Amino acid sequence: MKTEKKQYAEAEGLFTWPADEPHLIGGLCKGCNTYFFPKFSEFHKPGCPLEPVEEVLLSRRGKLATYTIQCFPVPSPFPNPEPFVPFAIGIVALPEGIEVIGQLTGVSVEDVKTGIDVELVVEKLCEDKEGNEAMTWKFRPV
Ligand SMILES: [Zn+2]
Repeated sequence: MKTEKKQYAEAEGLFTWPADEPHLIGGLCKGCNTYFFPKFSEFHKPGCPLEPVEEVLLSRRGKLATYTIQCFPVPSPFPNPEPFVPFAIGIVALPEGIEVIGQLTGVSVEDVKTGIDVELVVEKLCEDKEGNEAMTWKFRPV
């Protein structure tokens, strides 16, 4: 018996998807004019009453500010793709003046470099017990 694999967003409210050009969903605090991500973050600026907040789609492109290599599976309960392959996790500086963390894709851990331009994509994070695919955002060199 063959069943269709389903894809679903690993978490709700973080990115627009399905979409040809997905965006992270952030917030813009009109109180202090700062962007933040995710939009329900309460910690964008100490002392700001955080209002009013407008939902905004953040830029899809940014620059890789720094990164680290994840060399071993993340401890439970976090899901890991199997078989595990080391991957890079980047901190990406967006034009909005904030930095967002995300797994890097489309580049080997040997070739990743700070300062490269990257764009947001939505890809498989892992498969669940039923074989369905949990999707999350990642950054890919452009
Ligand atoms: Zn604010």
